[in-house]
Amino acid sequence: MTLSKEQILRYGRQLILPEIGVAGQQQLTHAAVLIIGAGGLGSPAAFYLAAAGVGTIGIIDPESVALSNLHRQILHTTEAVGSPKARSAQARLEALNPHVTVIPIQERLSAANAADILDAYDVVVDGSDNFSTRYLVNDAAVLLGKPLIHGGVVHFGGQVMTILPRQGACFRCVFPEPPPAGSIPSCQEAGVVGAVAGILGSLMAHETLKVLLGLGEPVVDRLFMFDGMTSRVRDVPVRRNTQCAVCGEQPTIRTLMELEPLCAGTA
Ligand SMILES: [Zn+2]
Repeated sequence: MTLSKEQILRYGRQLILPEIGVAGQQQLTHAAVLIIGAGGLGSPAAFYLAAAGVGTIGIIDPESVALSNLHRQILHTTEAVGSPKARSAQARLEALNPHVTVIPIQERLSAANAADILDAYDVVVDGSDNFSTRYLVNDAAVLLGKPLIHGGVVHFGGQVMTILPRQGACFRCVFPEPPPAGSIPSCQEAGVVGAVAGILGSLMAHETLKVLLGLGEPVVDRLFMFDGMTSRVRDVPVRRNTQCAVCGEQPTIRTLMELEPLCAGTA
C-alpha cells in the first residue's frame, strides 16, 4: 500500500520523523485500537489516534451524551446531547479524518462480550470510569495477550500505565483487589478537571502509538502519576507480582468474571 498525495500532506509532519516515516504510517493504517469509553480520557485519546491515522478505531460506550459531560468529554458537541456517545464519537472522528474506519459499539462491556470484542484489536485503551470495568478489561487483555493502556482521572489528578501482558506488571499486579465499595466516590459525585483528563488521555494516545510502532520506552512497570495542583509528575516503579491472580505463576482467574459495579477514577 502506498500513501496518497492527500495522506502525504495530512501526515507530513509525522512522516518526516525518521522514527515513523512511511513504514510507520503504513503500520498505523493497518492497526486497530479499541477505546473503552468515549468520555474524559477516551475523547482526547480517540482524537489523537484518529488524527495520527490509526486505520480502525473501535469505541465502546453504552451511554448517551449528557450536558454535564461536555466540560471534559470533548468528542461530543452541545448538539449531540441525548444521542449515543459511540455514534457521536464516530461522527466527530470521521469528520477529523475520513481515512479512519470508526466502529461504534453501543454496549456495556461485560464478562460475556469482552473477549469477543477485544479480540479484534491490536491495542486496548481503557478510559472507563469504574473499577468493575477496569478489572474486567485488565483480565481480558492479559488472557488474550493484548497490550493495554490503563488510565484513570479524578479530581485534579490521574495516572497512566501501559500493560504488556506477561512482559510487565498488569493492573492487578499493582492493585490486587478493588477498594472497598464505600471508600470511593460514586461516578456521579466525583469531581474532575477537564484539562487534567485531557493531559492523561493524550498520554494514553501517545503510549498507544509507541506500542503500535515499537518506539521508545512505554510506561511499562511504572505508574505515571500526574498531580494537577502542582503540575508535578511522579514515576512510581511497579513490578509483576508472582502471586497475581491473572498473570502470576498460579493464576486463579482463567475465565472472565464480573465485579459488582464500583465507581471512581483512580485507584
Ligand atoms: Zn498481573
